[in-house]
Amino acid sequence: MIQSRSDGNSMLTLQTPPTFTVFGQPTKGLERLFQQLPLVLQANGYLFEPEPDNPRAVLNFIQSERPIPYRRKAQGTMVVSFLELPQMPPDPIAALYSYLVRALSNMLVVYVPDQGAYFLTLELGQYHEPEGSRFAERLFERIHPIASSVLVVNNRFEADLEPELWHGDDLTEDLSAAGRKLAEWDLLPTAFPIEEILPPEDLRHVKRLYGIGGLSYGNLSARKDQRRFWMSASGVDKANLREVGRDILMVTDYDAEQNAMRLSVPPGIEPRRVSVDAIEHWMIYREHPQVGAILHVHAWMENIPSTQFNYPCGTYQLADAVAEKVRQAPDPSRAVVGLKNHGLTITGHSLQEILERIEGRLVRQVPMT
Ligand SMILES: [Zn+2]
Repeated sequence: MIQSRSDGNSMLTLQTPPTFTVFGQPTKGLERLFQQLPLVLQANGYLFEPEPDNPRAVLNFIQSERPIPYRRKAQGTMVVSFLELPQMPPDPIAALYSYLVRALSNMLVVYVPDQGAYFLTLELGQYHEPEGSRFAERLFERIHPIASSVLVVNNRFEADLEPELWHGDDLTEDLSAAGRKLAEWDLLPTAFPIEEILPPEDLRHVKRLYGIGGLSYGNLSARKDQRRFWMSASGVDKANLREVGRDILMVTDYDAEQNAMRLSVPPGIEPRRVSVDAIEHWMIYREHPQVGAILHVHAWMENIPSTQFNYPCGTYQLADAVAEKVRQAPDPSRAVVGLKNHGLTITGHSLQEILERIEGRLVRQVPMT
């Protein structure tokens, strides 16, 4: 069943009610959640299907020796993997991120008996729910923003970029300079080497489904004119943004019908995909003509408003939540918005102006709540 939700000028197709399924087998300590969580999901309006073609959410129970991925048929499926460990490793991200990726999940829940559940997201979010009353319900509240959100990762390339922009302009120079500045400030975490972690068939699967080349963090964009903006590509080194169509893309629109970003590229190149957060930047530029540039980093600033839920990168829901915070800012064209358990989105008149405004005010550690 498909229903359209009207959302301002754009439309978003959602399945209603959202379906979910359970995959894999629980270890001993996870048996209780394996029983309880599906009941909690159903109590909250999700519909269980034993073998759905295209579920919205999958609860995937994995083992540490061999984390088996659930193979989605569609990119809209969000997978939450559950893993039991006797104790938390001292450096959870280093020790556990590969489980998240190897199980092809959007979120990893590590259950440690008597201690509770530790969450890890693709955006390097990590937080904890202690064991105790309403444990399964509290887990659901953490899982729901992921399970219910819709990725906008499709790209539609049109080889119609005007020749005078094939080699960039002053704005693409600004993007390159800002990327180098972020590297100087040590704000570009090393991209996660998925090609070293995933076996070749899983890597092919991920690339086919999402078209991603790697996992990197942060992005930046600059407005070209009333409807278009330049933006960094997905999975590229932001310290080295050079080529139009490869490192920097021209975003022209969002196609609500196809749930795709539209990109204008030079002819005769194999373009890279735009950053997954293009939908968020598109929403902000469209609503606020005074915004000239947008920067997203995995860092934090004191005393800023923050989104309430931990929606994943590249989803319509994250874009919507950030756009709402920008709208509420005293000056939307110079806003700093916190993305819960994730990082910052900052608007400005130019990238240069943003960097001058935030210099010395960023903290590397994003608060995890
Ligand atoms: Zn991010």
